[in-house]
Amino acid sequence: MSEGAQPTPPDAAPLLAGARYHKSKVISYVALHLLCLTAFLVPFSWDCLALCVGLYYFRILGITAGFHRYFSHKSFQTSRAFQLLLALWANTAFMRGPLTWARAHRHHHRVSDAAEDFHSPGQLGLAFAHTGWFLTQDYDEANTLPVRDLERCGELRFLDRHYWIPTLGLALLCYLGGGLPWLIWGGLISLILSWHGTFTINSLAHRWGSQRYATGDESRNSLLLALLTCGEGWHNNHHHQMNAARQGHRVWEWDPTWYLIWLWSKLGLVWEVVEVDWERAEASLLQRNPGPSEGALSP
Ligand SMILES: [Zn+2]
Ligand SMILES: [Zn+2]
Repeated sequence: MSEGAQPTPPDAAPLLAGARYHKSKVISYVALHLLCLTAFLVPFSWDCLALCVGLYYFRILGITAGFHRYFSHKSFQTSRAFQLLLALWANTAFMRGPLTWARAHRHHHRVSDAAEDFHSPGQLGLAFAHTGWFLTQDYDEANTLPVRDLERCGELRFLDRHYWIPTLGLALLCYLGGGLPWLIWGGLISLILSWHGTFTINSLAHRWGSQRYATGDESRNSLLLALLTCGEGWHNNHHHQMNAARQGHRVWEWDPTWYLIWLWSKLGLVWEVVEVDWERAEASLLQRNPGPSEGALSP
């Protein structure tokens, strides 16, 4: 994929600033959050909590490895069958389909923290960047960047239209495995948490944390966000080299999505993994002589 060859997207933020909300989406979004309270109506057990945490990270990994590093950035190449598997996996998080997600995310990198950014906390406020922009009609109308490399695959177009199928499938599996308590904790609460875990990268990762590289935007690095999002919290690293499969640039920078991609490459499931350009990284350091806590860049 050549992201540089794509046309400039239309202005979005001026529209989003006076946002026109989809009433039905807002009601559904709030209702799903309120439904989480039904957890108080069923008996609590530790297996429910374990399922919730397990499926939280399962969904987050699907988003980070699938929708983000593969579909949005093509950080590696893979077979069409494995590509479909990634799309199905990521779609268990009910965050629209692979085309829509990648289209919006590529747009974010093109205009990051500028007036046209769909979800810049510096432009539209933290709450709207976190949760709000995707509930508007303006976003739907402005999210038009072509993603031709993905659009040519019929199965991806199908999943983009019917993105709810894998989410419902996983919810059904939860119900069959443990009845109503598993449905609530694994199918619903875990889902809502995975949304907010992902949304922190749109909001907090452009507000809180440290900047290592001169990227011309407000992207930040945060260990806490990296722990919550399987490595996506190294967001300043990512904005510096958005196509690199690895986002943790120090050996201690926790990046399980990268460990998984590395393992897949060793197993032959993926190939042409995009490496970090360490020379370019070194040249872009904001602090050219890092202290002992920072250490040297290391592959
Ligand atoms: Zn960003
Ligand atoms: Zn990205």
